[in-house]
Amino acid sequence: LVDAPTETPDALEVLHRVFGYDSFRGEQQQIIEHVAGGGDALVLMPTGGGKSLCYQIPALVRAGTGVVISPLIALMQDQVDALTALGVRAGFLNSTQDPYERQAVEQAFLAGELDLLYLAPERLRTEGTQRLLDRGTVSLFAIDEAHCVAQWGHDFRPDYLALSMLHERWPKVPRIALTATATEATHAEIAARLGLAEGEARHFVASFDRPNIQYRIAPKNNPTRQLLELIRTEHAGDAGVVYCLSRASVEKTAAFLVEHGIDAVAYHAGMDSRTRAANQARFLREDGVVVVATIAFGMGIDKPDVRFVAHLDLPKSVEGYYQETGRAGRDGEPATAWLAYGLQDVVQQRKMIEGSEGDETHRRSLAAHLDAMLALCETVECRRVRLLAYFGQAAAGPCGNCDTCLTPAESWDGTVAAQKLMSTVWRLAKERRQKFGAGQIIDILQGKKTAKVIQFDHDALSVFGIGTDLSTAEWRGVVRQLLASGLLAVEGDYGTLVLTDASGEVLGGRRSVPMRKEAAPAPAARKSSG
Ligand code: ADP
Ligand code: ZN
Repeated sequence: LVDAPTETPDALEVLHRVFGYDSFRGEQQQIIEHVAGGGDALVLMPTGGGKSLCYQIPALVRAGTGVVISPLIALMQDQVDALTALGVRAGFLNSTQDPYERQAVEQAFLAGELDLLYLAPERLRTEGTQRLLDRGTVSLFAIDEAHCVAQWGHDFRPDYLALSMLHERWPKVPRIALTATATEATHAEIAARLGLAEGEARHFVASFDRPNIQYRIAPKNNPTRQLLELIRTEHAGDAGVVYCLSRASVEKTAAFLVEHGIDAVAYHAGMDSRTRAANQARFLREDGVVVVATIAFGMGIDKPDVRFVAHLDLPKSVEGYYQETGRAGRDGEPATAWLAYGLQDVVQQRKMIEGSEGDETHRRSLAAHLDAMLALCETVECRRVRLLAYFGQAAAGPCGNCDTCLTPAESWDGTVAAQKLMSTVWRLAKERRQKFGAGQIIDILQGKKTAKVIQFDHDALSVFGIGTDLSTAEWRGVVRQLLASGLLAVEGDYGTLVLTDASGEVLGGRRSVPMRKEAAPAPAARKSSG
């Protein structure tokens, strides 16, 4: 072409001219230069870190079209619209389009009129798409949400595993895989599965610290009330995201907030798509809307001024917790990550794992992820130190911006309490007549002659009334912490408490059990924001 630019535009110039930003963030420049120069890269960067530019700018600098593989079909239209508004020529191909739309995009690609083309991962497995790519010019492959390749039971995993063919089929086209999930295990698996081992590809690992986010994990007593209190005292008029496990609790919580004057909307996969889209649009475009959602919400959502993320149920893994809380404070201003956590969470999740489909390896993996999350909840150390350590990163020291730093958790020697509780569990297990959950055991310990206690003659047990020194909440805390550390387990549909191999060490006096004192229900102190 006669009028083609004689020299490739430089990355910084594109950053200014197209995106309107002054300077690169973190390692963006190194990443962009490496990929623009034809190198492969694996990028681990937290949510909000600025991953998109890492492939968008190389795609603009290099000749041809950058192909972006993303499972987030619902967001493609938004992404393309946002790029188009900046004057970038972008399109997408996915199952939501009719044949005419698809054809128009394909034509544009073949004519070299696209800078970026978004594709759902399953598309690439079709011969048709592969031939299409052969006929045009691909400048790079960006594999977004690359952790999908490493996640057990992930919907997109088979499609992501198939992406290993990219390098074989198009050996000259550079690839950049990006993820916000950064455990060493995930890191290694992405590298192995996609042929991006160190040496073949450069690895860029950003710090996962989000210093402006204040992490807090509170004992759960009345979670919706606690949430309302949090919003009223610290986040009045702020935009926020509230995560619940079930659709029913999403609906209930949103209704409760609205009833109490909070501008809240619900979001979950069971809603009709129009209401859901309208709710999402309100949250994105208006100020101070609180969205109550299942974890389906938020993948790829870019709203910089989310001031709090609240979890009313325990996330299944530290990865999930980090990803979800990471949606707070993307603008760098102070934000709160608040989680309410209680005994029932542990019982419920352990039961879900026990009843989950899949083989033993799968269940063990789920249990290991849950254990790490529980350890984060029960720690008396700085939450941030623990969180970063989980991702294999060292912190400079206690952060001063998490609940355990702000109101140091006291610990106490729970050995005797654990022994009393375990003895009661053991006594009841010996009867084998009936299965009992935490409630009955705590009633027995506290010497309460409830109908159920009398019905089973539990007031005649030697352990009856040996635990009057602790309150019900404290006993629930003891059960929760024993469950969290594997010194007790739950079994069956009713959450029956049972002893584990490790229980014996405590009962035999060979192991002591330090415990976290239940924090006062009041929220941790912090400066009022604006
Ligand atoms: P990620 O995909 O890592 O979660 P994004 O690519 O969506 O993050 O970027 C997060 C936000 O930061 C976006 O609003 C983006 O426009 C902005 N951003 C990215 N890089 C820069 C930069 N160099 N300067 C200013 N803003 C940036
Ligand atoms: Zn801290």
